[in-house]
Amino acid sequence: MPLLTTARFHTTVAALHQLPRDGVVEVAFVGRSNAGKSTAINVLCNRRRLAFSSRTPGRTQALNYFSVGPADRVLGYLVDTPGYGYASAPLETKHTWDQLAGRYLQDRPQLAGVVLLADVRRGLTERDLRLIDWVPPSTRLAVALTKSDKLSREQARRTLRTVGAELARLRPGAADSVLLFSALNRSGSDELARVVENWIETGLPGSPQPPAA
Ligand code: GDP
Repeated sequence: MPLLTTARFHTTVAALHQLPRDGVVEVAFVGRSNAGKSTAINVLCNRRRLAFSSRTPGRTQALNYFSVGPADRVLGYLVDTPGYGYASAPLETKHTWDQLAGRYLQDRPQLAGVVLLADVRRGLTERDLRLIDWVPPSTRLAVALTKSDKLSREQARRTLRTVGAELARLRPGAADSVLLFSALNRSGSDELARVVENWIETGLPGSPQPPAA
């Protein structure tokens, strides 16, 4: 069974001291509100309502943990972070995001990789760039340009190249990946699922590889 389809809700973390202490590898999903993050998580895990977006901006300022692996053995966590970037969100909400999700991204040893979801029609926003800046160089990063069905193939490819160039400038030498994704026609979903599963299976950069079976 594909690893991500085993995803089930694990816990909600509203403050840093509640983060799991079991050392299990984590992959975080980040993106501005409405980027299509919840939809993408559901497509990747082949579930209808595993993750759901809060319709009220900034309402769910918490990290939602989903575990993957056999029922009796957690192999990794998918961590859904609150959407950001609502211009109308109160300053307090922005502060909460920085204090919880921002600090989590910057200082979480078991964080193997970050998936940044961005609407292909917008490309990377200032806020996305600031967030990318927070991801440690040793943590892997994939940018999924969502809703690719909304643009022509040529337009989508142009954004793909632009974002690839931005990443190469921001994180030189990092093996980041950028891909086009559509929940509507599922393009890019197998590719993104493989990236995430690979991060979970290979563990943390620099950590010993699991013994070959
Ligand atoms: P979130 O706030 O980032 O979790 O965003 P959602 O997953 O709730 O998606 C925001 C809106 O975009 C919803 O109306 C989705 O139906 C729509 N959406 C998400 N992914 C796609 C996609 O790949 N294609 C299209 N056309 N719409 C999408």
